[in-house]
Amino acid sequence: MAKLSSLNPWLNGPNTERMPVLFLGHGSPMNAIEENEFVAGFRQQAALIPKPKAILCVSAHWMTRGTEVTAMASPRTIHDFGGFPPELYEVQYPAPGQPELASALPELLNPAQVGLDQNWGLDHGAWSVIKHLYPQADIPVVQMSLDMGLSPSGHAELAARLAELRNKGVLIIGSGNTVHNLGRVAWDRLNEVGYAYDWAEEARIWINQNVQSGNLQALCQYEKQGAALRLAVPTSEHYLPLLYSLAVCDAEESLAIFNDKALAGSLAMTSFRMG
Ligand code: ZN
Repeated sequence: MAKLSSLNPWLNGPNTERMPVLFLGHGSPMNAIEENEFVAGFRQQAALIPKPKAILCVSAHWMTRGTEVTAMASPRTIHDFGGFPPELYEVQYPAPGQPELASALPELLNPAQVGLDQNWGLDHGAWSVIKHLYPQADIPVVQMSLDMGLSPSGHAELAARLAELRNKGVLIIGSGNTVHNLGRVAWDRLNEVGYAYDWAEEARIWINQNVQSGNLQALCQYEKQGAALRLAVPTSEHYLPLLYSLAVCDAEESLAIFNDKALAGSLAMTSFRMG
């Protein structure tokens, strides 16, 4: 690992207990305000994890050229969706930012170009799930974007450089969905937990097996896996956060799987806790 010259405490401060890592299948934005088994699954995680000093969240919903990190002191709550009831637009998640942590990331991720963003905030990929873990909004949150110029393995290589933050009290959360094809959602069976098309089920199981065996290389090459994966991951943005969560882990770390259910034919809510 490259020597870090910075005096930034998020790089060179004392180590904490090594933090677990989460991948959260966020599903519909309505999970922000509904009560269901998935929300209960998110909520249970907080009790299983040491209280973080900060959260670094890679959300499916922030795609950029180059990597950006939110660097403002007070990130706004972004309602980045349409056609939902008014009460969803009224939700605010006023967690503070952590500009000092953000400013450590360009050095940590060097030689990748990392921009310190002042405009984004927290999109629903972040706040709709983090609010269930930390309803008091008292843990600072930094969001990191998906550089859509990178290959899947390029994302994994970049993400691996974040691993050291786990020793500084940072909870790394990838927020997406392993199986996510909105174009194929069975709208007439929208809330039917467990309902999956055959290809969605095949893909959910393939992804789970490779997560359980720690085969990050196979997961990076999902595009070579044939028709089921092509249908389950028609675009990469909801899948890539999974690679971030796995790339900061070691093969021998413990793995817990939760919310491992299909939904509406073409979605999976599968979530993981590592370490
Ligand atoms: Zn989403």
